[in-house]
Amino acid sequence: MLKLGNRFMKFIDLESQQQRIRPALDRRIATVLAHGQYILGPEVMELEQVLAAYVGVHHCITMASGTDALLAALMALDVGPGDEVITTGFSFIATAEVIALLGAKPVYVDIDPHTFNLDPDQLTAAVNHRTKALLPVSLYGQCADFTHINALADEWALPVIEDGAQSFGATQHGRRSCGLSTVGCTSFFPSKPLGCYGDGGAIFTDDAQLADTLRTIRNHGQSQRYYHTRLGINGRLDTLQAAILLEKIAIFPDEVERRNLIAQRYIEHLIQVPDITLPVIQPDNTSVFGQFTLRVKNREFVLQSLQRAGIPTAVHYPQPMYRQPALLDESICLPECERAAQEVLSLPFHPYMDEADIVRVVDALILAVAGN
Ligand SMILES: *Cc1c(COP(=O)(O)O)cnc(C)c1O
Repeated sequence: MLKLGNRFMKFIDLESQQQRIRPALDRRIATVLAHGQYILGPEVMELEQVLAAYVGVHHCITMASGTDALLAALMALDVGPGDEVITTGFSFIATAEVIALLGAKPVYVDIDPHTFNLDPDQLTAAVNHRTKALLPVSLYGQCADFTHINALADEWALPVIEDGAQSFGATQHGRRSCGLSTVGCTSFFPSKPLGCYGDGGAIFTDDAQLADTLRTIRNHGQSQRYYHTRLGINGRLDTLQAAILLEKIAIFPDEVERRNLIAQRYIEHLIQVPDITLPVIQPDNTSVFGQFTLRVKNREFVLQSLQRAGIPTAVHYPQPMYRQPALLDESICLPECERAAQEVLSLPFHPYMDEADIVRVVDALILAVAGN
């Protein structure tokens, strides 16, 4: 049956997913309400085991958010005033925010225009004796180039923290995002590839000592009840969110497959269209398409045309982080970050889109770009 052309188009459809697993979610939630261990309950431990196995590392520490995951990772690595942490100029604010919050200096490196990820060739010039850690982001669902990043980190004996908030489920050389470096952080914000029904996040590592430190930091630096050996945060994931994630991770591999099929359809429809630059996935990578983001010229015009056609869009992100008032550094200008901020446009994308949805977006986009 044909879908109505004017059916409401969602940027991300969390309802279809919920319908699919609603009875299982209800059972999980009822179990938590019955046992009443809302903080660090059994579902949290169960989820940590499932997630660690999925990523292929020894330790998973669930966190209250992706931001807390990044913050705790930097705290565990003793990042503080006087230190520099090298990251990309082009990401969600949280990436650089956590560095600045700890009194350290974010040092921004330009991106590779094809992958939107930190350009490893430019890392070399940014490293010096003040560098305390590298914090690459795996933007839009594709991992940064960890082969090169880890090689440079080894030379300087630096830890590497992956901001995998958008890339959970992606792979590089067959290994999963968040398991590619010293420590990997992700987010379970509802709209991320694996999302819960509130805020959530997780940290992954093979380093047992680091894992212990992270668990302590997550819980106010507490070693035993009301004994606090260091400063920490309240960074725990709620048991209810862990319960929800246990049902969502069960269907996640299928959703990752669907995400790839849908991205493939978008690419097939759009590959011949002039004035659209499609996302490039490197041969060693698989993406989870945390966003389906492409480049257009004259983006404002395209955005307005799509809005008139009832197609929701987003711009991830309209400014490099160093241009945000909170982090403003006018001495920095990274040309590829600046250009990306002017050109990127994210299309509706979720695992429950059908061909009619895809065609509707594609048709509207082609018209919008041609009207330029
Ligand atoms: C979403 C996101 C974060 C922060 O995650 P929260 O769970 O919202 O705190 C950090 N980095 C990137 C790249 C993100 O997309």
